[in-house]
Amino acid sequence: MIELLCTLTGIIAGVAVVASLFHQQGERQKFAAAEESNASDRILGIADQLQVISHRVAANVTAHSEKVVHISDRLSVPNEEPTQVLSTINEIITANQAMQGQLADAQMRIAQQSRLIEQASHQARTDALTGLANRRALNEFISNSIENTTDATCTGLLLMDIDHFKSFNDNFGHTTGDAVLASFARAISVCCGDSSYAARYGGEEFAVVLSATNSIELALKAAAVRYYVSEQTINYEDLQLKITASGGLCEIRSGDTCQAIYERADEGLYQAKKGGRNCGFWRPHDGWQPFPEQKGNPKILAELRPSAEDIRTASRAAGEHERSTEDSTTVSTNTTQPVDETKPATGPLAIDFSLTPVAEVDAAPSENPPQSAETPADILDLNTFLSRLDGFVEQLRKADLPATAFMIEALGLDQFDAVQANACWGKTVAVVLENLRGIDVTCLYRPYTLCVFLPGSSCDAGLIRAGKTKLAVLEASALWNTSVCFEKLAVSVASIGPAEDNAGFLNRLELALEDAVDSSQREIVVHDGNTCHFQQT
Ligand code: GH3
Ligand code: MG
Ligand code: MG
Repeated sequence: MIELLCTLTGIIAGVAVVASLFHQQGERQKFAAAEESNASDRILGIADQLQVISHRVAANVTAHSEKVVHISDRLSVPNEEPTQVLSTINEIITANQAMQGQLADAQMRIAQQSRLIEQASHQARTDALTGLANRRALNEFISNSIENTTDATCTGLLLMDIDHFKSFNDNFGHTTGDAVLASFARAISVCCGDSSYAARYGGEEFAVVLSATNSIELALKAAAVRYYVSEQTINYEDLQLKITASGGLCEIRSGDTCQAIYERADEGLYQAKKGGRNCGFWRPHDGWQPFPEQKGNPKILAELRPSAEDIRTASRAAGEHERSTEDSTTVSTNTTQPVDETKPATGPLAIDFSLTPVAEVDAAPSENPPQSAETPADILDLNTFLSRLDGFVEQLRKADLPATAFMIEALGLDQFDAVQANACWGKTVAVVLENLRGIDVTCLYRPYTLCVFLPGSSCDAGLIRAGKTKLAVLEASALWNTSVCFEKLAVSVASIGPAEDNAGFLNRLELALEDAVDSSQREIVVHDGNTCHFQQT
């Protein structure tokens, strides 16, 4: 029993430590903060449960002891009748059995709580969005690596930072950004396998601790990981996206500190950003060097077999620098031009959508209806919509991708009392939003008219999407139990021309919408750039 109480006290102390870990929140982990604070609450809940079990066991033990003392007092009375003695013994047996039952129950509850603690402490070291180790776990791992570092080992930290991720978020929304981060993390895990330790450093930055037999091999591995993740295509909804990452590598030395290691790797990352992004830098000797060049199909680390030539080339690049005695901050220029920081980076477009055969993907009618966005897209006002469109269309053009939009107008609502008409309009908008993807952009174009921009969609695909949305609203409205409803839905579709400005594009959509007002309920009007066509839904 004493043992059980000691175990409980130990567990409660452990839980308190785990709970306090949750409060040592790094700033870069702010996106995971909400999940972690929930986990912290859960751990505190477990600690409370254990306190309750511990108090209950202590109370039961005290009651049991008192009972035993009381019974033993009765046994010590001289000349007690044998039947009386027997009944007293029976009482002891019953009391012992009850106590055993209570202890078994307490043990079962403790086992349950221990499992919860295990889960919570795993969660305390895991990034909620990507499932990778988080910064806290990375710190611990690096601290251990420092302790285990000897002259015979070669361990390094590769820091990777996704290129231009802010503009990705701005254009595609935070939900898409989150999905991309999760895919990026999966690519890191696939590439690294069990041989290296991968973590989310924070935000759109990731870390991999790599081991190798020497620094050249370390650089080859780091280069391979960065190249692998930057060559992946990320599927999200019906888009295929490509993002790249820059990398910085530094070796972990004995006597190092986590802080110093992060700073050195971060400096390599800074050189890579300066060097045009989608590249990596390391510092074999006094000066920063680009990562060994990677070509062809990206490989996972387990398949990486650098040829003798690869090793010679990488060694030469590192060695060449050793022979020169220039300023230690000089960036080698053998594969990357020196960078003037005042000029914008001229590297490859980080958000490279070039692999997006969207027209093919969504031109064919999909068996499954488009998934509704996790959080309904916001309805923008016209000005915000127009400025969002400017950036979006420019990005899509750079990537040679199509874009289409549709307008949907609920006719006849303006004749009704505004409150009732707005109630019907609210329901209409809700159904439209349910049929949108996370990356679609919607605005209230004018009263009772929405304009929905479909990035990456061809005109045919846009027509299908508009048709499905219209049908969904018509079907839903048939079930609305309201006296006020629109008379008709007018819908128009158009794709943006290769050199067309947004005003001209929206003008064509409006023209087509005017025609749609006079069309039959089953028709959608498509503006093909020259004329309007009536299409059956
Ligand atoms: P650079 O190439 O210089 O790294 O440019 P960048 O835009 O990637 O860098 P910047 O530091 O300006 O922006 C990082 C962006 O990453 C801004 C932030 O909103 C986004 N971000 C960080 N964490 C998350 C996250 O958990 N989810 C999403 N969707 N975005 C995140
Ligand atoms: Mg960053
Ligand atoms: Mg970035």
